[in-house]
Amino acid sequence: MTIICTTCKEDKEVSFFSKDISKAQGYRTICKECENKKSRERYKNNKEKYKKIEKDKRARNRKENMKRIVELTNLTCSWCGFQHTSTAPFAWHHIDATTKDYDVSTLMRLSNKEKLEEELEKCVFICHNCHDIEHERLREEEGK
Ligand SMILES: [Zn+2]
Ligand SMILES: [Zn+2]
Ligand SMILES: [Zn+2]
Repeated sequence: MTIICTTCKEDKEVSFFSKDISKAQGYRTICKECENKKSRERYKNNKEKYKKIEKDKRARNRKENMKRIVELTNLTCSWCGFQHTSTAPFAWHHIDATTKDYDVSTLMRLSNKEKLEEELEKCVFICHNCHDIEHERLREEEGK
């Protein structure tokens, strides 16, 4: 006995089909090969969907955290007063480098706001110019 698979339209031996007592002929109308292919596709689609959800979540976290940072900093360098419309020319400088647990940029992508605020507490929001000067100073200090 053979069955024509509804998906690939091929006429195949019943051994290529899974048994299904709810069907008239006692077998499924889609061959095992097509079934496997479909489940692989479904798995891939789910994985992509999941990846997209994760990506959206990270983007949302970032947006929310960014709002909070704008609130906190007014996008102004705490040292020289330089202002900008984005965080691009600024850095979170850890006042005491030994207290650093995470990179602020990493925390920005996560939903743990407490952790973020905790980390920000240890930092000053300064422009890259001030940051460079400060690190230069620290290097010199260490060199002494
Ligand atoms: Zn088939
Ligand atoms: Zn720094
Ligand atoms: Zn500055």
